[in-house]
Amino acid sequence: TKQDCRKINNYIWEISTSFKPQMTVPVWIFADEELLEEALKDLSVTQAVNVACLPGLAGHVAIMPDVHQGYGMPIGGVMAARVPDGIISPGAVGYDINCGVRVLASGIDYKSAKRHLPELATALYRNCPSGVGGKGSVPLSAEELDKMCRQGAKWALEKGYATEEDLQRTEEFGCLEGADPNSVSKRAKDRGRGQLGTLGAGNHFLEVDVIEEIFDQDAADIMGLYEGCLAIQIHCGSRGFGHQICTDYVQDFQLAVINYGIQLPDRELVCAPISSKEGQAYLGAMKAAANFAFANRQTLAYHARQSFEEVFGSQTGNHALRQVYDIAHNMAKIEQHNINGEEMTVCVHRKGATRAFGPGFEGLPPEYQEIGQPVLVPGSMGTESWILLGTEANDALSFGSSCHGAGRVMSRSKAKKEIRGERLRGELEKEGINVRAGSLPGLAEEAPQAYKDVNRVVETVSQAGIAHKVARLRPVAVVKG
Ligand code: 5GP
Ligand code: MN
Ligand code: MN
Repeated sequence: TKQDCRKINNYIWEISTSFKPQMTVPVWIFADEELLEEALKDLSVTQAVNVACLPGLAGHVAIMPDVHQGYGMPIGGVMAARVPDGIISPGAVGYDINCGVRVLASGIDYKSAKRHLPELATALYRNCPSGVGGKGSVPLSAEELDKMCRQGAKWALEKGYATEEDLQRTEEFGCLEGADPNSVSKRAKDRGRGQLGTLGAGNHFLEVDVIEEIFDQDAADIMGLYEGCLAIQIHCGSRGFGHQICTDYVQDFQLAVINYGIQLPDRELVCAPISSKEGQAYLGAMKAAANFAFANRQTLAYHARQSFEEVFGSQTGNHALRQVYDIAHNMAKIEQHNINGEEMTVCVHRKGATRAFGPGFEGLPPEYQEIGQPVLVPGSMGTESWILLGTEANDALSFGSSCHGAGRVMSRSKAKKEIRGERLRGELEKEGINVRAGSLPGLAEEAPQAYKDVNRVVETVSQAGIAHKVARLRPVAVVKG
């Protein structure tokens, strides 16, 4: 309950290790009063407390204001496991490994583009395959799939789907070193081969937005964000490939837990020592899925550019889509952090949370090193989305992490029951949002009412000092599987 949360300041709360004897570290909740109450309504905080009972953690477990319950670890959770003596947990990364968001921006102003938006929405829907199975736009041989898993967005560059700048403006430059296709099951590969370049269904989307307001003009100039102009968000991950990898290792690790004598607070948090052969195998497979997802969003970006070309090519000279950034929100990464005054190597698990490194970080392209890493925060198809920048201060607060969205308040099944897709589409269209959806019940699951207030979430991370505002976006066309 709220009594168990000690207020550190207006935007950070702590549950100390005295709350439950098995806890090895405290839990920090990033929220204002209202979002804290929201977080306490489902299993989010209970799950975060469970995570805090895992062996070998550093610092604290952090949960973001967009938190909601998930498999084992809540979505919107961050934990840092010590290397080499800590653990790695597939459930704390999530089923959609390297689900993430990419934003590209153009110089086309909304006013002149408005009448072409229906045509643009249709072109995007046609060029970017979606749906649950979603036949791939780029079928791959077994060898080609392995190569793509090792190289990520670099593979896409070689194939002509990317520019050098796209890779520069992608987390890890679009490729995690050490991906190991040999640690990936045949089943995962069979599922993945036909799915590269597809959006999938459900929560994944492609959206055209107007940049409505700029909050940091200097940073926006560097990032190529122009007020009143169009941008596009691509949200998807590693499709059936990553999902199968998570399924496989959740199962394999049941045995690892017994073999290594790990006490689990919840079976869903199965894990293995990060230095064990099981832990290393998962890490190699997870990286393969992460690279799949980078290549996937890159291929979709290629199709988005193609769609802009088809619609605006003959009319404007500024329809080029330049990459702003591409960021993962389901991933585990080995990083250095200063935790309680000590420099440490940790495996940071971010599930429904993004990396948000501040200025000076070498893994950013030169132009971003002075401003910090962009943080992309989608809201919903009917509300605002945000572009933020990471801060230096967040290292000590959240292991260099921030929120990844607005976060659910209503379960998918409840949304499907209470909201009519047909009617929702009508309402969105009336507000000038062009909707292309493969499934109307699917659309209802993602209704704006099913999500928290993104502006409040962003205000919280900004006041807590873990990211700061650069631009607010408003949707004008949305494509859903
Ligand atoms: P997740 O990866 O957790 O499924 O989703 C990330 C976030 O995307 C959600 O928390 C939600 O705020 C946001 N979101 C879901 N659907 C849409 C959409 O159609 N458009 C935008 N802009 N955001 C969305
Ligand atoms: Mn996602
Ligand atoms: Mn996903």
